[in-house]
Amino acid sequence: MSSLGKGIATSSLGALLQSHGYRVRLRKLDPYLNIDPGTMSPYQHGEVFVTSDGMESDLDLGNYERFTGLRMSSHDYVTTGKIYSSVLLKERKGDYLGATVQVIPHITDEIKNFITGHTEDIDFVLCEIGGTVGDIESLPYLEAIRQLRQDLGVERTMFIHLTLLPFIKGANELKTKPTQHSVKELLSVGIQPDVLLCRSDRPITEDIRKKLSLFCNVKADHVINGLDVDNIYKIPVMLHRDGFDERILSHFKMSGTSTAKLNHWLDLAHKIDHPQGHVRIGIVGKYSQLPDAYKSVIQALHHACFVNQTHLNLVLIDSNDDHSTLLETLDGILVPGGFGERGIEGKLTAIEYARTHHIPFLGICFGMQLTIIEFARHVLGLTSASSTEFGPTSEPVIDLMTTWVQNGVVNHRNENSEMGGTMRLGAYPCNLKKGSLAQKVYGCDAILERHRHRYEVNISYKDQFESQGLIFSGLSPDGYLPEIIELNDHPFFMACQFHPEFESTPFKPHPLFEQFVTASLKHSHCDHHSR
Ligand code: GLN
Repeated sequence: MSSLGKGIATSSLGALLQSHGYRVRLRKLDPYLNIDPGTMSPYQHGEVFVTSDGMESDLDLGNYERFTGLRMSSHDYVTTGKIYSSVLLKERKGDYLGATVQVIPHITDEIKNFITGHTEDIDFVLCEIGGTVGDIESLPYLEAIRQLRQDLGVERTMFIHLTLLPFIKGANELKTKPTQHSVKELLSVGIQPDVLLCRSDRPITEDIRKKLSLFCNVKADHVINGLDVDNIYKIPVMLHRDGFDERILSHFKMSGTSTAKLNHWLDLAHKIDHPQGHVRIGIVGKYSQLPDAYKSVIQALHHACFVNQTHLNLVLIDSNDDHSTLLETLDGILVPGGFGERGIEGKLTAIEYARTHHIPFLGICFGMQLTIIEFARHVLGLTSASSTEFGPTSEPVIDLMTTWVQNGVVNHRNENSEMGGTMRLGAYPCNLKKGSLAQKVYGCDAILERHRHRYEVNISYKDQFESQGLIFSGLSPDGYLPEIIELNDHPFFMACQFHPEFESTPFKPHPLFEQFVTASLKHSHCDHHSR
């Protein structure tokens, strides 16, 4: 079922195989009919993760990147909607001439091609199948992997089933029955799992391993325990200790090539467990009830805290509520990406507070656009300054970008363009202004960062802003698209049009987050800061 941690399990396995020196590719197959999650509400699926090649995907791809340090691409994520639309496109083109187009073999072939394609120079492809065993939606995927085992053989395929062992208080035991039933369900579609990865809130006993082995037809040492832990970055080491990677390598007869090198994971766990201080950072957004909507942002803050060996006290602040007393308690304020007018007043108040009270501030995407609006209204005196995203305005400081160029291709759009997949998506270059804070933070003159937005800061206001001290320190190479803004009479006040959180990993925090957290830490040590 969802939220059991398939994404983290896949990511951890990727990291473990890498630690043996193997090259991996991680992929997710999602069973819903949307082409991508781009138009879905964050309430449904949490954050939309963006790959550097511009695909909108499930947030699990963010975990894959954070755990393996690899960059995912549009070849690593597919939905049933995407599979069907490419099959239907082929049908219209006449590629199946004469054939009746069916789930088996046409849809299943398309799925198998997705799994096995683009795998040159790769030792392992790890495919996560979203959804729950027994759902109608995931059947074509299960059928495809069943066939794949026939195509490739047992020695080149392995089935890992992630399952829950609930603890029942009255009986004082972990129950194996749900697992027995889901395995039965898998058997009914021709899949015998090779490994059971069992989530539980307490260690599973030898008896349970034996019982599962007996009922589910899996070797007892192939029952691996995925225990609850206090930090996701401890999971690779935990699974390794239970023999997860060893069993997998021996199944593929690849054991003994090397031993896992896990020191960096152990060091990370040590830092997490021994913080030298703490910092209190607030994220002001309208999805504060749902932390998954800010998954990568929250992770990037944690990564920046890891290098500072600091504990993160995270406060998710609902921008619809009155949060004035909360703001006073913060060492740093972050306004993340977002869409639509609802809740912007609370975000504008937070930005103004950070600016005028010298609280370290980081604005991301929508957060940068609102920073521009706040500054325009309160410093430039343009009281009607707004974004055309909220309707027509006489001072469009944020406006729809109608024409832009990516990789030599000219893109066009207007108010009536389709919503799906039409944002400025993926990695774009940005030049940093000499002598700016941005250049100092990055330590270079040009960067590549990932985008996901429709609107842009209106460049025609640049001189007006700069005359009042708001510096445009990052611009697209043609000079038309503002990418980073900053204030210099402030401890740390930066905002960017892109999403730096997508580039952060626990072993390589993003420089903007790192400097933001460092500045917030400094602020936490200040005496004038009343609590
Ligand atoms: N709504 C804004 C836009 O479309 C910002 C998007 C975002 O924050 N990702 O431009």
